[in-house]
Amino acid sequence: MPFSQRVFCGELTPGDAGRSVQLAGWVDAFRDHGGLLFIHLRDRSGIIQVVFSPEIASAGVCRRAAGLRAEYCIAVTGEIRKRLEGTENPGIETGEIEVMASGLTVLSESDTLPFVLSDKAMTAGAPSARREAVSEELRLEYRYLDLRRAPMRDNLIARHRIFQCVRRFLDSRGFIEIETPILTMSTPEGARDYLVPSRVHPGNFYALPQSPQLFKQLLMIGGMERYFQLARCFRDEDLRPNRQPEFTQLDLEASFVDEEFLYGLIEELTVEMFAVGGIELPRPFPRMTYEEAMETTGSDRPDLRFGLRFVDVTDVFPGTGYAIFRRIIDAGGSIKGINVRGQSGRLSKNVLQNEYAKEVVPSFGGRGMTWMRAEGGRLDSNIVQFFKAEELDALRRKFEVADGDVLILIADASPRAVTSVLGQLRLHLAERLGLIPEGVFSPVWITEFPLFEATGDGGVTSSHHPFTAPDRTDFDPKNVEELLSLRSRAYDLVMNGEELGGGSIRISDRDLQRKIFAALGLDDRETREKFGFFLRAFDFGAPPHGGLALGMDRTVSMILGTPSIREVIAFPKNRSAACPMTGAPAQVKREQLAELGLLASAGTEPMRGTRERENLVDRLSWVARIGVDADERPAVEEALAWAEEMAAASARHAGMEEPVHTVAPVANRMRPGDEARRSELAETGKLLESAPEVKEGYFKVAAILE
Ligand code: ASP
Repeated sequence: MPFSQRVFCGELTPGDAGRSVQLAGWVDAFRDHGGLLFIHLRDRSGIIQVVFSPEIASAGVCRRAAGLRAEYCIAVTGEIRKRLEGTENPGIETGEIEVMASGLTVLSESDTLPFVLSDKAMTAGAPSARREAVSEELRLEYRYLDLRRAPMRDNLIARHRIFQCVRRFLDSRGFIEIETPILTMSTPEGARDYLVPSRVHPGNFYALPQSPQLFKQLLMIGGMERYFQLARCFRDEDLRPNRQPEFTQLDLEASFVDEEFLYGLIEELTVEMFAVGGIELPRPFPRMTYEEAMETTGSDRPDLRFGLRFVDVTDVFPGTGYAIFRRIIDAGGSIKGINVRGQSGRLSKNVLQNEYAKEVVPSFGGRGMTWMRAEGGRLDSNIVQFFKAEELDALRRKFEVADGDVLILIADASPRAVTSVLGQLRLHLAERLGLIPEGVFSPVWITEFPLFEATGDGGVTSSHHPFTAPDRTDFDPKNVEELLSLRSRAYDLVMNGEELGGGSIRISDRDLQRKIFAALGLDDRETREKFGFFLRAFDFGAPPHGGLALGMDRTVSMILGTPSIREVIAFPKNRSAACPMTGAPAQVKREQLAELGLLASAGTEPMRGTRERENLVDRLSWVARIGVDADERPAVEEALAWAEEMAAASARHAGMEEPVHTVAPVANRMRPGDEARRSELAETGKLLESAPEVKEGYFKVAAILE
């Protein structure tokens, strides 16, 4: 039967009984019943049982079948039949049927696997063939095998479906998919660029895009009106567990639109994407200003699946008798707290005082914590006696306290420190007390971000990127205080405490864009050098426009509920931004560097600093950052010569023998108690024959100085 006749294992049903089929795939598992051989045949669509019986298959087929092993790639012909009653396997979709094989072709064999792939039991009721815990590093090294596992296959199929949903939806709204360059100029998004040296322009570099920001704006100036792209972006940032150096964004931009258009569009799209994963999102998404988010949750990506919102109680304590609070208020600080409702049973005095106040809060950078437990209609704590009755009453009112509640207050001379500590505490308490409901999704738009942040050296930097429109245009670009008071027309979409994406209405006026660059401290020359081509485009009738980008790896991972974004990427990098399968990033040959102009010429003229490294001693001192004086040189040279000799010797042996840790074969030797005695060889002196030096019947070794 030719492959064109092939059908898919997972698509067969009891209705196909009696049908002759050709199947192709991999041996998921096999079981030999002496004469009868059963295999689970797996392709992308699922698993079906195939039976090799000498009554149906020829002796040759049965012999070949007996040689099958896990992950052999095979083609099978046979007839579908209903399984005998009592032999059905509800563990697989096709568990009511099986294929009585008449033909078998081994398409290719498989080595022994580095880890078990199958997780389906062959008989009903048997424990599933559980995979042993496999390290992620090993899974990534053999990713092509890992992809054969059902969870990975399902994740990639779901990712594809979500991407298709994006394409269909945006197409229906008049957006067109356009690719922008990968080899390009730097696009500022706040990370470092990955640089690509140019061979034909020695000494010059492309940058991989941190985002298509500049190009999508140029597409708007180019009259494309509505653009989107499932764009690969590259950011050389510090490592974090859920971050990839390259990632996929849904990038989009539209002309003649405002924030409301984008909120509506993205909400509808997000609802559709989550629906692919069977998740129903409530609409409209709530909105929260940046300030409100910071003031009530201590975060600009608040997790709104649970309460624990902050209440400001600074005004409860003016002229308080509690000296610590008084000092903090006098210094311009603030006091805020959260009411952990009904949790006094789990937050005992001991836990609050010895764990939270003494350990948890200091680990979040807090200097102290005040706690009170509501019991019998009163607030109780270790310091409650320092507060006036009206202060305690005001707290009860502000926090709407009921018995069983626990109040946690953080006070600090820096209001920023208060929100930061309380923000971390909020998440810690929610996790620990199990206050985060499962299966709940809480989207929120965060709006009105500050346009700039202070840099610490008296300047400002963009909170998003420098193309974001400010809320007003009449500012003085030299007045840092005024700059820091500007709000932006930017918005972030946050879900369950994670930023799914963000964007802004852009600056479309060239003078305003120049003013922003000036505020960022770029002079005319720098602006021209970096963004000349971009600014020039604004001289030709730029339309008002805005857009946004959604992190698709993160979004898909959230929809599918995977523990990391690596589970929804076919070939991700590991936590150290490396690929255990290909070995990237890897060193390159000197000739390649030379060809790229990274050595002045083909190896004869080394790069700056390389020549010094040519001489071994100089190289050592260069690497170790130590100076080697003339009189120390001979000793260092001798040590290096010896090391080189050793290295050469081991290189000669490399490949000939397995590396060993000891020169003698390792074995456990037990000294049998009383029978211990000196070797006869010692008696005769033979034992010491080959010793370099002997003293009184013993080996003499060099003194060891501690
Ligand atoms: N380019 C921005 C980013 O990658 C998104 C946007 O402003 O559209 O974060």
